[in-house]
Amino acid sequence: MKVTQQTLAQLAWDKMDNLLPAIVQDAVTGKVLMQGYMNQDALTTTLESGKVTFFSRSKQRLWQKGETSGNTLDLVSISADCDADSLLVLANPNGPTCHTGAESCWFNGDVADYTFIGDLERILAKRKNADPDSSYTARLYSKGVKRIAQKVGEEGVETALAATVMDTEELKNEAADLLYHLTVLLQACDMSMSDAISILRERHKA
Ligand code: AMP
Ligand code: ZN
Ligand code: ZN
Ligand code: ZN
Repeated sequence: MKVTQQTLAQLAWDKMDNLLPAIVQDAVTGKVLMQGYMNQDALTTTLESGKVTFFSRSKQRLWQKGETSGNTLDLVSISADCDADSLLVLANPNGPTCHTGAESCWFNGDVADYTFIGDLERILAKRKNADPDSSYTARLYSKGVKRIAQKVGEEGVETALAATVMDTEELKNEAADLLYHLTVLLQACDMSMSDAISILRERHKA
């Protein structure tokens, strides 16, 4: 269920002292960033301000994430689980979410494979301003879109060839090369994986 001002009252507030656990996920990569608790006031404030706000159990007051650090969370959407006693918050972070300076509060744990594509995309985006002598990616950007596009073509053909001869080790490696170069190409064109993924999502709806 999508949580709005209209559906807010239907949540299972009575289950745990008017508090619901709220799990915050990076809206682009799906990485789980932090978990806090929201009361009705925190939820309303979040929806109205567009900044993720919790009820702090230690401070016993509303706490806008980032109120002192500046590392706020820009709200994208909130949904409730099957029995309306847990919230999933999609947000775009402005800086590291954990007070330790880590991107996620679970910085010591493992992350799901697919979230790494998002991490990689951010790393590759940063290389756009790097010295061409400092990395392969920075050098690739400096050669321009046409050269990167050519690399995507080559890796596409190599991927196809590996599949044709059923060389599974080679296929893994060439597919990795293709994903890497495609990510760089999109970045060079000021686009992102999200642009392509939204098209796929739209098509699936149709
Ligand atoms: P901030 O909300 O980022 O301005 O941080 C204010 C205070 O909230 C910090 O000193 C921490 O005690 C606490 N804090 C910040 N981020 C987190 C988090 N992700 N999880 C738990 N506590 C946090
Ligand atoms: Zn539940
Ligand atoms: Zn933390
Ligand atoms: Zn290759």
